[in-house]
Amino acid sequence: MNNQLNVPITGGCFCGGLRYRVDQQPFGQANCHCRACQHATGGAYAPVLLVPTAALVIEGEYREYQSSGDSGHTVTRVFCGHCGTTVFAATTRVETMRPIYAVTLDQPELFSPTLDAWTDFAQPWVPMDESLPKFRRDLPAESAGLPPPPRRRR
Ligand SMILES: [Zn+2]
Ligand SMILES: [Zn+2]
Repeated sequence: MNNQLNVPITGGCFCGGLRYRVDQQPFGQANCHCRACQHATGGAYAPVLLVPTAALVIEGEYREYQSSGDSGHTVTRVFCGHCGTTVFAATTRVETMRPIYAVTLDQPELFSPTLDAWTDFAQPWVPMDESLPKFRRDLPAESAGLPPPPRRRR
C-alpha cells in the first residue's frame, strides 16, 4: 500500500549532528495531528514514517522530552540539542515501532502519507487530503506494525 522508499532510508537534523539510517521499509506513513506532534514540530501536524525500532540506527547526540500523549501512553520526543530539530518520537504503546519526522529525510519528497491520525485534534485551518482515510484517534495497528485487532474499530 505504501509507496516504496529507497533502502537504506537516511536522514538527520538540520545541523547534521544527529543522523539515522533505517534498513527496512516503514510499516506505514501517516500525518499525525496530535497535540504532542504539533508542539514538537511547530506545525499543524507531523508527517511521520513509522519504522521498525530494530531497523533504526541512530548516530550522534540527542536530547529527549517525555510527555503524556493524547493516547495516555508516554510519548518521547527526540531532538538535536544543538539545532533543535525534532527527529524521532517513541511511544510506550508500541515499542517495536519508532516514528521518524519525515521532513528530516534526506529525500523528504519521497514521503507519501496514506492516512491522517488524531484528527480530533486537527487544527480547523489545516487543509487535508480528503482522499486519505481519517482516524479520529490513534492510527490503525497495521500501520504501527502490529497485527490487526480481532474486532475492527473505526
Ligand atoms: Zn542538529
Ligand atoms: Zn502525533
